[in-house]
This record gives sequence, C-alpha cells and structure tokens, in this order.
Amino acid sequence: MRKLINLTTFADLGLAETLLRAIDDEGYRTPTPIQSGAIPRLLAGDDVLGIAQTGTGKTASFVLPILHLIAESDKRRLARTAQALILAPTRELASQIAEEIKRYTRHRRVAVAIVVGGAKPGPQVRALSRGVDIIVATPGRLLDHMSSRAVDLSETRFAVLDEADQMLDLGFIPAIRTIMAALPKQRQTVLMSATMPKEIRRLAARFQTNPVEVAVAPVARPIEEIAQSVVAVGSASKRDVLSQILAAKDVTRAIVFTRTKHGADKVKRHLDGAGLPAAAIHGNKSQAQRQRALDAFRSGASPILVATDIAARGIHVDDVSHVINFELPEVAEVYVHRIGRTARAGHTGVAISLCDPAERKLLRAIERLTGKAIAPEAVDAAAADERSSRTAADADEHHTPRRRHSAPSPRGEGGRGAPRPKKPRYRGKSPSPQKGRASHGSGRTAA
Ligand code: AMP
Repeated sequence: MRKLINLTTFADLGLAETLLRAIDDEGYRTPTPIQSGAIPRLLAGDDVLGIAQTGTGKTASFVLPILHLIAESDKRRLARTAQALILAPTRELASQIAEEIKRYTRHRRVAVAIVVGGAKPGPQVRALSRGVDIIVATPGRLLDHMSSRAVDLSETRFAVLDEADQMLDLGFIPAIRTIMAALPKQRQTVLMSATMPKEIRRLAARFQTNPVEVAVAPVARPIEEIAQSVVAVGSASKRDVLSQILAAKDVTRAIVFTRTKHGADKVKRHLDGAGLPAAAIHGNKSQAQRQRALDAFRSGASPILVATDIAARGIHVDDVSHVINFELPEVAEVYVHRIGRTARAGHTGVAISLCDPAERKLLRAIERLTGKAIAPEAVDAAAADERSSRTAADADEHHTPRRRHSAPSPRGEGGRGAPRPKKPRYRGKSPSPQKGRASHGSGRTAA
C-alpha cells in the first residue's frame, strides 16, 4: 500500500492535468490532510468515510477525485441521468459545493445541476432532462424529482453524503434511504461528517462497502485564531447589549445567531431600528430571499447577518470579523460550528456569546466539550450608546467597566487591528502531525 503521508503535492495524488491547473489557479500549494487522505483512495475506487469539519478542505477532497474519474470515463450523458450525486443538508451548502465545482472545472467543463428546495422546479427539470455529470442536491427536492421521474439515478456511480451529522439532525435519514435505494449497488460512496455518532457509523455500514476512514481536526476544538468571550446578561437587556457590541468600530462583518426563525426576525427589526441595518436568513425565507441576504452580506451592503443555525450551515464568507451568539445553542457542538464562521481563510476572529441565567447550563456544556473556560467580558448595557457623552471618568466613578472593542485572543493579540498572520486558506493549519490535529488513513473500518 502507498504511504499516504508522503503525498505532499497535488501532482503526487495523481489528479488530471486540467484539475492541477485549476488547483494552481486557486493558489492551493499543498493538499490538506483530508485531501491527501481521501483523494488517492477515491481515485483507487474505495469508499471513504471522512471525519472532517468545514474549513478543512473537505469539499475538494471528494469533488476533485470525482471530477477526475468522470473525465477519465468520458461516458456519454443519457437523458435524466447523472454520474455523480452530492447530497447536502442545506441549500446554501449545496450552492457552495456547486460553486466550488465550477472553480475546479475552469479548464474542463462538466454539466452540474443544482436541485434544491425554495427554487422553481421547472428549470431544474429542464437541466436534468438532458442528463448531467453531477447533481448537487438537498434530499427533499431530489425526492420530488425522483417521484415525478424527472431524474433517473440508475447510472449514478458516485454518491456523496456531505455533513451527514447535520442531515441526521434535520431528519433527512428516511429521505436518504429512499434516494440511496435508487442508486446502483456498484458505486463509490463518500460519507463526510464533522462528528461520528453511532447513527452515522450505522449509516456508513449500510451505504458503504468497506470504507477507508480518514479523520482530521476533531470538531470539539475551536480554532485558536478565534478570541472567545461570554457576556452575562439578563434576557431583557440582550438586544441593547447586542447593538452596543455591533456598533463598535472593529466589527466589520458580523453574523448574529439566534435559536429561532421568529427570534431572528425580531433581532433584525431591532437592529434596523437601532441604525444597524441587517439581513436575516432562516428556513422560512424563500431561496431567492436567502440568496439576496447572503449576497448583501458578502458584498458588504449589509455587514450584519442574523441567522438561525440551519440557514447558516453553508455560509462560507471570508472576513467575518465577529460571530455573536445572541442565544446559546442547545447542542454544544453547534457552538463550534457557529464560531467557525469567523477566522476563516487565515484571518483572526472574535466570538462573543450573550448568556442569560437560564442559559448557564448550555455554557457549561460548551466549556466541557471544548475543554476550555470561555472568558467573561463586561458590557455595560446602560452605557450601550458609545456615542453618548459619558466620559471614561464617569464610567469609573459608577464602577461600570468600559467594554473592550475586542476580546484579547488566546495569544495575546488584539482583534482586527492586530496584524494578520499569513496562513493557508484551509482550517487545518499544517499537516504536521505534532499538532495532533490530523491523522490520515487510519485504516479500514469494519463495515
Ligand atoms: P471546506 O472545508 O471544503 O469548506 O474548504 C474550506 C476552504 O479551504 C475553501 O475556501 C477552499 O477553497 C479552501 N481550500 C481547499 N483546499 C485547499 C488547499 N489545499 N489549500 C488551501 N486552501 C484550500
């Protein structure tokens, strides 16, 4: 067997020349650990069970070998069929994957259909009718097209279940079972998941054949570039504290997380009223509304995005300076996903959580998961308006600590004012094993 650890360049991995050129255009220098673990195995025809979170380069780890194998086969497209199916839990993640495919196919085009809910089915049916190379889909809408026979999966040789743990949380497993049953038995299946609960292992055993397991960067470790802090606040003061935090100069682009769709709308209205125009994104919005909100956020027209967890899954926007947890998540691991929206692409970031007394147990669960106490930060709700004429001396007299603009990072750096370390764009900073963050090709799981 080849030693995976020695494969240090994309050319070593055996990818086609057109892909190598696209990778070079992207500026990727070396494969990330999930890529050097998964790509050779997929090219060799194996199934892969990947334990990797967003930011590790996981998308390219399955997209690149699939593109290579599709190009190699040069199979004629049959009506309504696709050679590869990539399933994602949210529309945003699906569009993100499709965009990434587009970038890697600059020098050799492939036909991709995006099949997601919230968009008109007509154009999707037309795109599928001629047959495509790859379908990127969310499960519900794909099922609709399957039952109306707009799509035929009998020729699909590659299947990917991306963010499988999230699909499980969203109740997509019955839909996935139906979809997988429509695929041929002779196929390659990739399952990617940030976490590996028993149910996901069971799914892998059911849908995969003797998969190779590749594990990188455990989800329970928030990346070091994020300065995390928590503000103890009564629930009634949360909105004022939030506008105070967001009004600070160092907040250039922020995502505010709420637990509910209704809560997201309320927070957006409050911020609009406070002169801090925000876009909102959640499951009740149409695809077009979600896309508009995301575009406004990405372009900087709305530097604040209020989001629920489900809608936020596929948001990959670099340069998010702050993540604010308006409410703490019920599931501790979601916290790690949320704060991972900042400090992307080698930047530093700040994550501030507002915690009311009823949420203290959620905070403790997060600290247990991450193995680290989150530093308390003082925000004076009464002094919410930084533009007020109160002086620092006044504040001292009233024993009201002034808020720091950004919590210090664990390495003692400031927030966005601090010089940014140059790093590769993916999250796993270095494939060096001494960090203990990556282990590849740890052998085959019992299927
Ligand atoms: P993902 O984990 O798929 O969400 O990827 C995170 C980011 O890493 C994306 O913006 C990719 O463009 C980028 N990326 C993927 N592979 C590499 C690589 N080998 N080197 C540098 N950046 C990469």
